Amino acid sequence: MQAEQIEALREAASDGIALDGLEAEYDGDVYRFAVPDDERTGLSESAFVQAAEDAPAYVTNWYFWAQIAPTHSARRAFLRWLEWSDAGDVLTRYDELAAGVSRTWGELELTVTLGDDGRRAYDVRHENDAGAPVTDLRTYEDPTDARELVKYDRKERYRPLKTAPSLRDGWVFPDLTAPELVETVGIVYPATIPNWHREREGELDISHWRETAERQTGIYDIVDELDPEAVDRIAATCCVDSQCLKRREWEFDEDRELDADGGDGQFPCREPCSLVVAAARKWTTLEREESRTYEFDLTPSEKEQIEDVIDAVADGRSDDIREADVYEGANRYRTRYLREKLFDEEGRLCGVPTEEE
Ligand code: SF4
Repeated sequence: MQAEQIEALREAASDGIALDGLEAEYDGDVYRFAVPDDERTGLSESAFVQAAEDAPAYVTNWYFWAQIAPTHSARRAFLRWLEWSDAGDVLTRYDELAAGVSRTWGELELTVTLGDDGRRAYDVRHENDAGAPVTDLRTYEDPTDARELVKYDRKERYRPLKTAPSLRDGWVFPDLTAPELVETVGIVYPATIPNWHREREGELDISHWRETAERQTGIYDIVDELDPEAVDRIAATCCVDSQCLKRREWEFDEDRELDADGGDGQFPCREPCSLVVAAARKWTTLEREESRTYEFDLTPSEKEQIEDVIDAVADGRSDDIREADVYEGANRYRTRYLREKLFDEEGRLCGVPTEEE
């Protein structure tokens, strides 16, 4: 413990201190110092310093939260959540922090470790890399480097939705400060910390589908035409856990909940995002079409294969089906064969025109 930490504690005692089991006061005459199972009153300055030196974990813990950690309420709450600050006393937590305490946030694994004099060091990496030696991963120091890491997925495809579960792995920020940790998480998953905090405080302002849709202008002006059933399909398409790590809290409107699963994500989604609104524009135009009756001749297996292909594409499995897996309906050779058999030279299924001729 450093002398400046005790000096800071002594100065702050005039205003009264109460944090994580440590209490300290100075009434202008004598000091009081208390930690669990040890309360000392009527202390001179030197006795107060001695009391602080006898409880280094409590003092350095106070110093970190009072002098080093961000004061912004959401960031601070997040950092305290990260190290389970409400669970157990400081001595127990210090033992755990010395070994490193980890939590996941979306696909991130965040680890906080105790450094010298109560300082914390933060490690940020993909949860797939939990436990991997730092030397096995690409290391970064500057939080802004995360901007490049989140741009593309493992297959180098652009990630339009930052909270999609497609974060690439193989990298680590091994030694961040508290503000840097918060900045890095904010780049990987923008606005998730403030919205998580608002929700905990009961202050999450939710904008449901109807009001979000009615706010749209320009080319997106049409999305308020969609009925609740179509919006339900959109939520089931885009917002479930397999597609987005946010937990959808918005509904059709205040009085009408959607049936689609909102997901179990740690951080809430407070309004339909721009990706969903943009996709909804396309669905709005598609929903305007009337159904027609077409007649196709398919064998039972061909019908099932078409269903398999739709399933595999919708679940993002088509790339993983190997060429040798000819028992999979969405296998490339099986699909090519089906096209050879069912499409005419103009690419029409069973030669049936889309429009009446
Ligand atoms: S609207 Fe849906 S897809 Fe978009 S961020 Fe929210 S939960 Fe995710």
